[in-house]
Formats: sequence, C-alpha cells, structure tokens
Amino acid sequence: MKKTQQITVLGATGSVGLSTLDVIARHPDLYQVFALTGFSRLKELLALCVRHSPRFAVVPEQEVARGLQDALAAAGLDTRVLVGESGLCEVAAHPQVDTVLAAIVGAAGLRPTLAAVEAGKKVLLANKEALVMSGALFMQAVHRSGAVLLPIDSEHNAIFQCLPVDYSRGLGTVGVRRILLTASGGPFRETPLADLMGVTPEQACAHPNWSMGRKISVDSASMMNKGLELIEACWLFDARPSQVEVVIHPQSVIHSMVDYVDGSVLAQLGNPDMRTPIAHALAWPQRIDSGVAPLNLFSIARLDFQAPDEQRFPCLRLARQAAEAGNSAPALLNAANEVAVAAFLNRRIRYPEIASIIDEVLNLEPVVAVQELDAVFEIDLKARTLAEQWLSRNGR
Ligand code: NAD
Ligand code: MG
Repeated sequence: MKKTQQITVLGATGSVGLSTLDVIARHPDLYQVFALTGFSRLKELLALCVRHSPRFAVVPEQEVARGLQDALAAAGLDTRVLVGESGLCEVAAHPQVDTVLAAIVGAAGLRPTLAAVEAGKKVLLANKEALVMSGALFMQAVHRSGAVLLPIDSEHNAIFQCLPVDYSRGLGTVGVRRILLTASGGPFRETPLADLMGVTPEQACAHPNWSMGRKISVDSASMMNKGLELIEACWLFDARPSQVEVVIHPQSVIHSMVDYVDGSVLAQLGNPDMRTPIAHALAWPQRIDSGVAPLNLFSIARLDFQAPDEQRFPCLRLARQAAEAGNSAPALLNAANEVAVAAFLNRRIRYPEIASIIDEVLNLEPVVAVQELDAVFEIDLKARTLAEQWLSRNGR
C-alpha cells in the first residue's frame, strides 16, 4: 500500500498555500498535512489548523504563538505552535516530512526553503524569490542533498512538463532551441503610457486572469514577475538568459512552451488555476484530480501573441540585465523590487517609480561574486538600504 505523504505548507494562509490545501483535501488517502505556517491573517491559520489538524503550526512571534496555542487547545487540537524563522526551518527539515510546499512570498522564504532542500525533501517551489536571490547556492544544495525540486510556478511547471525527463543532460544535448516563457501582460498591457503615473495599487492588483497575492500581482503588472521567472528558468533548467524568450499571451491558456531544433514546439495548456501545477508536482510522476475545470477551447476560441514592449515594461529589461550580469545582480534586483513594490502598495510612490528605484540600485551597487548565504543577505540588505535612501531623498 502507498504511504501517505506528510506535507509542510510554508505560507499556508496565502494564495498558493490555500490552493495547495484545496488539492490536498481532495486526496486524504495520499496526503496529510504535517505543518502549516502563517505570518498575518492568524484567524485563517487557526481555521486551517482546525480543518487539517497539523502536528505543527508556525507564527512570527511568541505572543501570537501563545494565543494560537490556547485557541487550538480550546478546539481540542494538540497541534504544537512554533515561532519565527527557526520554527519555519524546523518544520521544513523535520525528519517526518516528505514534501515541502515553499509558498512564503519574498526573501523571507529563502532560509526555510533552503532548510527543506538541505534536508533532501521533495520541494515544491512557488517562492521564486529564493531562487532568484541565491540561485547558484540553492542549486548546489539541491545537487548535494539529492532533494527533488519541482516547480509550482505555472510557467516553469509547464516547461518541466514539455521537457524530456533527461533534460538535466543539457538543453542543447536534448535538442532544445529555446524556452518560450509566456506572460499575460497584466492589467496595464494596453493602458496609455501617460496614464501609468496615476494607476493605483487596486488597479495593479486586479490581474485579468490569475488571482494571487498582492506582491506578485504588482510584479505581474510591471512584468518584473516575468523577469524573476526568466532568472528562475535559467536556474531550474540550466539555460542561458538568451535561451529564454518572453512572449505576451493575454489569454494565459498556454502556460509556456519549449521550442526544439527540429521545429517542434511543445506547449502545456490549461485554465489559469494554480491547482493544476500544484497537483502535477504533488503527484509527479503520477496524475491526480486537481478540481480544475476541463479546458473549453471553444469558449476560448483564439490565442494571441505579441512581443513585450520594453518602454512599457522597463522592469523586464532590468531583470534581463541582472540575469545576464549574474552573481549578485539578481539579489540586488529582487531586494530593490521588494522595497519598491511595498512602497507602491503603501502609496508612498507612483507605479513608474518602481522601475526608477530598481534602476538606481542596480547602477549604484557593483556586481560581485557570491560564495555563501551570509553574502546573499548582505547584498539583500545593501539593496534595501539604497532603495530606502531613494525614498527618503525623494521625500516619501
Ligand atoms: P500571498 O501574499 O498570498 O501569501 C504569502 C504567504 O507568505 C502567506 O501565507 C504569508 O503569511 C506568508 N508570509 C509573508 N511574509 C512572511 C514572512 N516575513 N515570514 C513568513 N511568512 C510570510 O502570496 P502568494 O500569491 O501565495 O505567493 C507566494 C509565493 O508564490 C510568491 O513567491 C509568489 O511569487 C509565488 N507564486 C505565486 C503564484 C500565485 O498564483 N499566487 C504563482 C506563482 C508563484
Ligand atoms: Mg508564474
């Protein structure tokens, strides 16, 4: 009989976390929740614990932990509450855990995701920022520990599905010419450039096809998300930035493609619902029901494609520059973007200033080689400080 997989969901209260728990709940014979973590929205975390009875829950602070522990006891649960980054790393690397879903947003997810990798877990990666910040160290840890790294990001999951199983022999060796990374173009794909100065966080977060957390929604509007995904694809599939072409495809039905030397182009299609890549990675190499409705091609009727315009999407250009510079450049890009996006969401800056901040940080800070994790966090801090300096110099 097949063993029930024990799963830790890092970032359980978020958009990807909730989609994951939806898929897991459809297959109680296959998956059991071992640990759930949350940062804010702690009422929701309590409700998720009541629903899934995990062995552990993790919250950011001691005081919050006490409150949650009491509420869990009152609900008759013996879930143990752990605190902070050490708690996250503990449930990511716990010997009884089989699979870790890495769905914390931003740099905060790096250490716990890496803890899962170093413990040799099956790691389902949504937290692309972790890989962008420390790709070389991250992939070295994957190879050293024998962890199984499976992409949850819909594009990378699609590419993974379109590649042959032995793609790690090298893309050229297996006949791949290019990876075609699709992008919806976000809510501002056709907004007059002059109007971008006035767009609001609400407009930026209203993605036409996907329902996601606020940070990735802004990244999708600016196409920084596609830039981060370009870097993510380079690490996951050992590709050069020049082998990854970004294609705007507004319907988000094709989730990405692989172009082979014989002229074949393989695509993965589906409704834009994260439960498909999550179910794929959870069950891989098997297939399970995800709850996603079958694709109705007749109601979609047409698929469109266009090249991205770098004037409209300067963040994509900056990300490609950082991908090509390698070393510390992607970590600088990521941290500057996190500060800029938070400032935009808090209405401290205007939307086009996200790119101005990142541009300045990349120009001010020299690119250096990165040999260890402490250096990654130093670079991250340096970029955050420079971005904050932009904000105070401009009176924000
Ligand atoms: P979200 O904002 O909905 O959820 C983020 C989760 O991280 C929450 O559970 C939150 O409590 C937790 N968190 C936030 N800050 C934290 C901190 N400092 N320490 C610990 N936990 C913290 O975000 P999301 O949309 O679910 O995205 C999560 C990750 O998945 C991101 O890296 C994003 O780029 C990636 N991703 C998301 C989607 C999507 O459809 N939402 C698709 C592809 C990739
Ligand atoms: Mg994506």
